[in-house]
Amino acid sequence: MKKANKLLMYFRKGSILKVNNQTRFHEMERRIRLKTLNPHITCKICRGYLIDATTVIECLHTFCKSCLVKHLEDNNTCPTCEIVIHQSHPLQYISYDRTMQDIVYKLVPNLQQNEIRRERDFYKRRGMPYPKIIPNNCIEKEAGSQSSSSKVEDCDYHRSDEQVNILLEAQSSALKQMRRKFIRCSAQVTVTHLKKFIAKKVFNNMDKYREVDILCNEEILGKDHTLKFVCVTRWRFKDPPLKLYYRPRLDLT
Ligand SMILES: [Zn+2]
Ligand SMILES: [Zn+2]
Repeated sequence: MKKANKLLMYFRKGSILKVNNQTRFHEMERRIRLKTLNPHITCKICRGYLIDATTVIECLHTFCKSCLVKHLEDNNTCPTCEIVIHQSHPLQYISYDRTMQDIVYKLVPNLQQNEIRRERDFYKRRGMPYPKIIPNNCIEKEAGSQSSSSKVEDCDYHRSDEQVNILLEAQSSALKQMRRKFIRCSAQVTVTHLKKFIAKKVFNNMDKYREVDILCNEEILGKDHTLKFVCVTRWRFKDPPLKLYYRPRLDLT
């Protein structure tokens, strides 16, 4: 594959050592060849490192987005395990895997910078504006420098996350309705984020977010659920938008 195979990666790892029957954490440095990780961070279709990592929701196998979408033009099965993803709409049951892509970009030197450079050239040659947000310093950085993924995180504001469409309505007249009920936001947003948003809009005070319950299919949602989790577990076979209701919190104690 690529030259990066030969590079050695360093991981700081807290490993557990047993000393005199006492278990304690000991920080050590372990060297791992990138080659040993390759089966986990490469695409089975093109055999390159994952780009726009996209996962089949049913079996959790991951491929490059473009490779998988192309495969699904003529098939409805997972290229790895051949499970039927969906009889007629397999594209609706795959999902951008930001965590996996972050891992790949962190592990493989310069992959992200090279990919952005390639995309920019693609649009430039066609005289089209580059449609994505360019991460800080990603282009200017020379080969061999450290990845700037923390900066990427900072300037991106989750715009490149998978997005979800939600409809947010007050369940009763106890709380006022949103002026704008249809919202599009990152699938990483948690129920608590959403409560803070509602508190800001309804009470004009974000600190009152604990006074709100959010429900999906009549069920109160846990505060740490992400909208991705809610979609997959509560709205899987329904059409978007994901319908959520809010109401004053019921104190059961
Ligand atoms: Zn691929
Ligand atoms: Zn599969």
